[in-house]
Amino acid sequence: MELKFWLDRWQRADTGFHQEMAHDFLTRHWPALGVPKGAEVLVPLCGKSLDLLWLAGEGHPVTGVEISPVAVEAFFRENGLQPRRWRDGAFEVWEEDEIRILLGDFFALEPRQLAEVAGVYDRASLIALPPTMRERYARKLETVLPAGVQVLLVTLEYDQSALAGPPFAVGEAEVRALYAPAHEVELLYTRDALSEESRWRERGLTWLLEKVYRLTHRADVGQ
Ligand code: SAH
Repeated sequence: MELKFWLDRWQRADTGFHQEMAHDFLTRHWPALGVPKGAEVLVPLCGKSLDLLWLAGEGHPVTGVEISPVAVEAFFRENGLQPRRWRDGAFEVWEEDEIRILLGDFFALEPRQLAEVAGVYDRASLIALPPTMRERYARKLETVLPAGVQVLLVTLEYDQSALAGPPFAVGEAEVRALYAPAHEVELLYTRDALSEESRWRERGLTWLLEKVYRLTHRADVGQ
């Protein structure tokens, strides 16, 4: 998926994935990870998600990564924050207090930029990417993060032949294929998401599952 696709979507405000409050899977299941307060959390492909604020409110320094300057500017402006900005390698860093967004391409991240990260929250990040990029994304996360990190991963499952992504359907077998080599993979909860979101029914889906997983990086697996 071309970066231009996302830049254009933000330009024309085609951002149906954005939610006006923190995602309830985050608020309900984050405590299951046991990431200690004060430990840094990475939110890859963060958009202008209010999940960043919720995590900061839980006492975590938060690092988001986002390619669209429109999204990053909107996040800070809409939340009344005045970030400092500076350049760091391939990224422009925007930061206020406990929230830092790295404006740039996720695939350009360097381990030194994430050296303190202990937890990851992935909602609409993995499933924003087409199949070959999902493999690259999972491998990149593994190589760029310190050992022992825990991940809360939210996915959608539906009949991919009924609707083109993104968001893409990513089933449990794929989650395990991507992450099980280096992580313990546990499904925490599944819900029927069709009844709650009529926009999917309107787009032709007859079933839609939203799942949340806990991935625990096995510190014994080499980076
Ligand atoms: N997690 C957010 C946004 C999901 S949409 C939420 O829940 O609202 C996916 C986001 O990833 C978009 O904002 C898009 O601009 C961004 N994105 C896509 N590819 C990217 C890349 N390679 N690097 C950084 N951000 C990217």
